[in-house]
Amino acid sequence: MAHLKDIPILMYHHVASGDAILPEDNSFLSLDDFKAQTTALSAAGYTTIDFLQLADISDEKVRPPEKPVIISIDDGYAETLKNVMTVLQRNGQKAVVGLVTGCVGGFDDWQKARKEYYRIIDAGLVKEYAKSCFSFVSHSETHRFLSSLEGHELEKELTVSKQDIENMTGKPVNALIYPYGDRDDKVKEALSAAGYRFGVAISAKTKYVLEDPYDLRRVYIKKGDSVRTFMRKISPWYLWYRGLRRR
Ligand SMILES: [Zn+2]
Repeated sequence: MAHLKDIPILMYHHVASGDAILPEDNSFLSLDDFKAQTTALSAAGYTTIDFLQLADISDEKVRPPEKPVIISIDDGYAETLKNVMTVLQRNGQKAVVGLVTGCVGGFDDWQKARKEYYRIIDAGLVKEYAKSCFSFVSHSETHRFLSSLEGHELEKELTVSKQDIENMTGKPVNALIYPYGDRDDKVKEALSAAGYRFGVAISAKTKYVLEDPYDLRRVYIKKGDSVRTFMRKISPWYLWYRGLRRR
C-alpha cells in the first residue's frame, strides 16, 4: 500500500432515533450528530468505501478516490442501522457493518454488564441491507476476547462468522473487526489462515493506518462530538499525529 498510508476508518456503535434519551455511554450518538458528521464528510469531498474496495485499491486494481473514508458500525444494531440508512442513502454514502453472527436475530447478550440489551438485525434484513448501502464484515461469532481462545475455538469464531455472512449476503467477506479491539500475533495469523485480508482494531501501535492490514487503527467517534471535533479527528495531520504517538 505504498501509495496510500492513512485513511480515516470511523468507529460507530449506536445511533439513537430522534428524541431518544442517550444512555451514559460514549458509544451512543444522536441521529442529529450522525447526520451532521456524514453531511460534513460529503461537503469536504470524502468518498465512502468498503473493505472490498480497499483491497482493490491496495492491489492497485482501481485508483483510490481523492479522499477515501470508511464508516464502520460495530455489532449490527437493528435500530441504529434503520436510523442511519436513510441518512447514508440521502448522502449517497455507504457503511461497513461488523456483525456478530451468533447474535443475528437476537440481542447483544455479550454485554453482561448492562441493564438493557439491544436487538441485532435478523438474517432477512442482513440480506436486504447488503443490497443497499451496507456491506457486512465479521465481528466474530460470539464477541469473545479472541486472544483468549486457542486452536479450533479461535478458528471457529473466524470461519463460521465469515461463512454465515457470505451465505446471507452472497458477497465475499474479507475483513473482521476484533471484538473489544483484542488481538495478538496468534489471532492475526489465524485471521490470515481463515482467508481474511484485513483485521480492524481500535487503537494500534503502527505508524500508519494501513501499515499492517491486520492491525488497522480506527477513529472513535464519541457521543457529543461536534462537526468541528469530528473533522479534526479525521484530518490527515491528526492521523499522522496518532501514528507518531503510536496509539
Ligand atoms: Zn462489538
